[in-house]
Amino acid sequence: MHSRRLLTAMLLAACAASAHAQTTPSATRAETPAALVAAAKRAAGSDHAGTFLRICVAPDNQNGTPRPPPAARAVPDRATWYARPYKVFDNLYFLGTQIHSAWALTTSAGIIVIDTLFDYASGPEIVDGLSALGLNPKDIKYVLISHAHGDHDQGAAMLQSRYGAKVVMGAADWETTLQRPASAPGGVPKRDIAVGPEGRQIALGDTIVDVIATPGHTPGTLSYLFKVRDGNRTLTVAYSGGTAFNFPRSAENFAIYRDSASKMGAAAKAAGATIVMSNHTEFDRAWDRARIAQLPRAAGEKHPYEIGMDSVQGYFEMMRDCAEAQRLSMN
Ligand SMILES: [Zn+2]
Repeated sequence: MHSRRLLTAMLLAACAASAHAQTTPSATRAETPAALVAAAKRAAGSDHAGTFLRICVAPDNQNGTPRPPPAARAVPDRATWYARPYKVFDNLYFLGTQIHSAWALTTSAGIIVIDTLFDYASGPEIVDGLSALGLNPKDIKYVLISHAHGDHDQGAAMLQSRYGAKVVMGAADWETTLQRPASAPGGVPKRDIAVGPEGRQIALGDTIVDVIATPGHTPGTLSYLFKVRDGNRTLTVAYSGGTAFNFPRSAENFAIYRDSASKMGAAAKAAGATIVMSNHTEFDRAWDRARIAQLPRAAGEKHPYEIGMDSVQGYFEMMRDCAEAQRLSMN
């Protein structure tokens, strides 16, 4: 109750800041942290309120000390994380948990897996999930890791060793991954494809994934653009590879994050992206949307993931403004 009241107060403060900013001509508006938070709130709208809350209202910044190495973790109660797999688009399948996303992008020449969850979840969700959906895990050709944190990459080594899938990761994140002890949860994948700042494409059969380097959340964070089919429509997804501000708190790091958000926003715009995805369900409601996508739709009713170009742009503007607000608030 207390934290909810605090949250309400913070949201009201953000609303007040927003109302104030609207009275100031934007051309002459100084970029202050408060004005940027207000701008981010407008850009977030109702589609991205959860992400706005997390990175603008109550960012979980790290206070200058490096993140400690992940401790060996006990497997949480399955009821707190397990989610059934779902076909969400004709060529995209949700294999995530209630908390984190993993996806199978199917192509004419095999499967591309995007993100791999904690090690305890990758077997039940990705391997068993593909089988439950009538897909074959042996067809996994690529595993794309958006960034090297355990909640997204601990399943990579298993998919690589068991199925011969090629693991794709940002070059800087390979460096930290390869320093892990062999006893790390999920093991350590062997270096396959390292993506540098210039990005690259991953092509498999009839499908191309544009891999865009978006450092910030980690130095090697990758984001993606790819197409999904919804009946006779083809839609473009902008997949944002890293979100929270739990990196070492410095003006330089926030500037890197800010510039990546701008870069990814521009790439999403150029590609005509009308869908934004994240790898935490709190940011894109993946688990909810995957289930809503199972419902019949009326003629002309949009896919639950389709939010339109303006809202996709709003997502990246919000990320940019929240990071810049943090940067400016530092001494
Ligand atoms: Zn992370």
